Amino acid sequence: MAVDPLIELRDVNKYFGDLHVLQDIQLTVGKGEVVVVIGPSGSGKSTLCRAINRLEPIHSGTILLDGRPLPEEGKALAALRADVGMVFQSFNLFAHRTVLQNVSLGQVKVRKRKKEDADKRSRQLLDRVGLADQADKYPAQLSGGQQQRVAIARALAMEPKVMLFDEPTSALDPEMINEVLEVMRQLASEGMTMVVVTHEMGFARSAANRVVFMSDGRIVEDRSPDEFFTNPASDRARDFLSKIL
Ligand code: ADP
Ligand code: MG
Repeated sequence: MAVDPLIELRDVNKYFGDLHVLQDIQLTVGKGEVVVVIGPSGSGKSTLCRAINRLEPIHSGTILLDGRPLPEEGKALAALRADVGMVFQSFNLFAHRTVLQNVSLGQVKVRKRKKEDADKRSRQLLDRVGLADQADKYPAQLSGGQQQRVAIARALAMEPKVMLFDEPTSALDPEMINEVLEVMRQLASEGMTMVVVTHEMGFARSAANRVVFMSDGRIVEDRSPDEFFTNPASDRARDFLSKIL
């Protein structure tokens, strides 16, 4: 199936000092695709996400978003960060702002919406992630699962072209994991393009179009979840799966 590419990484290399953290990465994410990235700790998954958002510069290669190279700086870079929504393990909400303000702020600053319009949209999004009644609370008054759903609403408020999730449920108590995965499943079913780093294999099986397995800075496998889980091609993936499943 040929899909229209939204993100393309070609021959991407990055080093931290002597550590070759991204090695000749080739990855295409099509519009509407959900790509789950898995692999051992330290294999470069977060760095890959951060490179796509240009939070980390790369040393060589090309990253294209919607056919265009990532901008280097300035307003174009701020727009890129809005186009590429990112949700981290730690929720990174503004502690001294209400939930509603957290979701509205970027819309006003980066997308230049009027405050009333931003707030209206924020309330719709909070409703969508099941938090309509929490708009006036502060982050510390919410559970981890609720805070992570606010973080998702905040990213969505910018109308991103793609959403990157870097272990969004790893810091959550078990009973809160599902409420966040449910919001992500919903997004996926609505056609959002998503790159998701996660250890939640149930999510990978049910929501991913492709599973990318990373090891030591390389993409070792890039296949359908069915193929990956039933018959991983590499020893490293087999070894990894035997430890976590
Ligand atoms: P993962 O998300 O798969 O656990 P990371 O992308 O966070 O892996 O890290 C890959 C490797 O790069 C690790 O060995 C990590 O210690 C190293 N690393 C990550 N960030 C930095 C940094 N800012 N400076 C130096 N080394 C880093
Ligand atoms: Mg990581």
